[in-house]
Amino acid sequence: MTESDSNDVQIYACPSPDDCPFTGTADELLEHVNSEHSGEYRQDNWPDTPAGRAGRPVVEPDDEDDVDDQRGDPDG
Ligand SMILES: [Zn+2]
Repeated sequence: MTESDSNDVQIYACPSPDDCPFTGTADELLEHVNSEHSGEYRQDNWPDTPAGRAGRPVVEPDDEDDVDDQRGDPDG
């Protein structure tokens, strides 16, 4: 085993749709979400990150355009 260098810890931003400035490690983020956003993360708009949005079906109740070919972005 080599000595581990903890400078390389991944930092995450809070995925709340609110304007939450929190950033921290995965553990810190988990704790933060559980305490500050308890229950909120069950909402449909969690997590408010590009990856989170990509994982959700695109539902836009405001948009009455019957554009059907909006799914599947080749740029990913
Ligand atoms: Zn937060």
